[in-house]
Amino acid sequence: MRIPQLLAALVICITLPLEALAMTQVNSARLWRAPDNTRLVFDLTGPVEHSVFTLSAPDRIVIDIKKTQLSTQLSGLTGGKSPITQVRTGKQGTDELRIVLDISEQVTPKSFTLTPNQQYGHRLVVDLFDQGASVPKQVAPQPAATAAPPAATPTAKLSKLPASHKRDIVIAIDAGHGGEDPGAIGPGGVREKDIVLKIAQELQRQINAEKGFRAELVRTGDYFIPLRRRTEIARKKGADLFVSVHADAAPRAAAFGASVFALSDSGATSETARWLADSENRSDLIGGAGNVKLHDKDAMLAGVLLDLSMTASLSSSLDVGQKVLSNMGRITALHKKRVEQAGFMVLKSPDMPSILVETGFISNPGESKKLANRSHQQALARSIHTGIRQFFQQNPPPGSYVAWLRDSGKLAIGPREHVVRSGESVSLIAQRYQISPAQLRNANKLKSDALKVGQLLTVPATTLAGQ
Ligand SMILES: [Zn+2]
Repeated sequence: MRIPQLLAALVICITLPLEALAMTQVNSARLWRAPDNTRLVFDLTGPVEHSVFTLSAPDRIVIDIKKTQLSTQLSGLTGGKSPITQVRTGKQGTDELRIVLDISEQVTPKSFTLTPNQQYGHRLVVDLFDQGASVPKQVAPQPAATAAPPAATPTAKLSKLPASHKRDIVIAIDAGHGGEDPGAIGPGGVREKDIVLKIAQELQRQINAEKGFRAELVRTGDYFIPLRRRTEIARKKGADLFVSVHADAAPRAAAFGASVFALSDSGATSETARWLADSENRSDLIGGAGNVKLHDKDAMLAGVLLDLSMTASLSSSLDVGQKVLSNMGRITALHKKRVEQAGFMVLKSPDMPSILVETGFISNPGESKKLANRSHQQALARSIHTGIRQFFQQNPPPGSYVAWLRDSGKLAIGPREHVVRSGESVSLIAQRYQISPAQLRNANKLKSDALKVGQLLTVPATTLAGQ
C-alpha cells in the first residue's frame, strides 16, 4: 500500500466514528394522552430537520428525521387510550431515521421542534389530533414568552339561553401546567402539576355540590395545554369566571404564603409578581405550544373592544380575587394581603373575569408538605369556593339561578369585607352593597365619611331583595 492510500484509509477510519458522533440521537420518547389528541415527544441531542406525513390502508403516520439515530426503545408509545397500536423504526438512505406509527383510527398530525430550556433539551413534538378535534393552525415554531395581544373577541354568553331559564353560573378551573410541563418541583420531587390538579378537582367537587353553580375543569388529566388554549376551552364552556390554580417556586426557598393575581395593564405590582408571571408565561416553551392558534381579526377594532371589556372584567377580577384572598387568609399564611397584578398570559381574557391563585410556594419545605396534604387541599378549595360564592352572590349574572334567588329576596348574604379604592365614598359603597350609608357607618364605627384608599371596611349582613 502506497502512502496516499494508507492516508486515505486512515482518514476513513477517523471520519466514520466522527460522522456517527455528528448524528443526532433520539435519547428518549414519551406520550401524553389528552381528551382529543395524543402528544409524542422525542428528546434529541441536537436540532433536527424532520417531516411528518400520513399513509392510508392501513393508516400510518411516518416521521422522518434527518441525520438522526435511535438510541432508545420506543415501546412505551403504544397502549392506553392512544390510537398508536405499533411503532416500527428503520433507516432511510444513509442517515435518516424513519419512525412509522401504526394507528387504529385516522388522526391529523401536527409537528414542531422546541429548543432547550431550563428543564429540557432539544425536542421534536408530534401531536396527533383525533377525528373531530379542532386542529390548531400552526403559526410560529416558538411563540415569544412575552405578552402578545389576546386572541379573544368578546362574546355574548347569554344570548343562546331562553330568558326564563335559570342558568348555572359556570366556573372554569384551570389546573396549571401538566404533561411535558411539571411546573415547579418541590423538596422530595413533589410536582406542582399533580398538586394543583388535586386542588382543582376538589374545588370542582365542592362547587358542583352547590345549586346554581357548575364547575368545569380546563385540564382533566396529566397533559399539557398551551396557555391561550386554556382560556379558549373556558370560553367554549361558557365560563363566567376563570380560576387558574398554581403552587409555584420562588428564587428564595424561604418565601411562603398564598397569593391571588389579576392581570396588570401596566407592569407588575411587585418583584415576586413579575418573577412569577415570567416563569408562568415560560410554560408554553416548556410544555410546547407550537400549535398556538391566533385569530386574524382586525387588529385595531379588536384592540378597542378589548380595552372596553378588559376594564370591566379587570375590576371584577380584582373584586373576586380580593374575596378569595381574604378567605384563604383564614386557613393559610398570605404572601401579600392584596390582590397582586402582573402580565400572566392566562389572565388575558377580555370577556371573563380571571384570577390566578398561587396556593403556596412548593419551594418552601414546610409549605410543600402542607400542599401535598389532602385535608389542606380541601381547606384551600373551600376557601377559594367561599370567595367565589361571595362574589357571585353580590354580582349574579342576569338570568342565573343566583340572580333569581337575589331578586326574589331569598338570598341572605353574611358580613363581607371591602377594600376602599380611589374615588369611592361611603354613599357609593353603601349603594353598591344595597345597604344604607348609616348601616355602613355603624358597622365600621365611622365618625366621619372620610375614607382612605386601602382602608378595610366591614359590610354588614343583608338580605338582597329586588334592586
Ligand atoms: Zn405554576
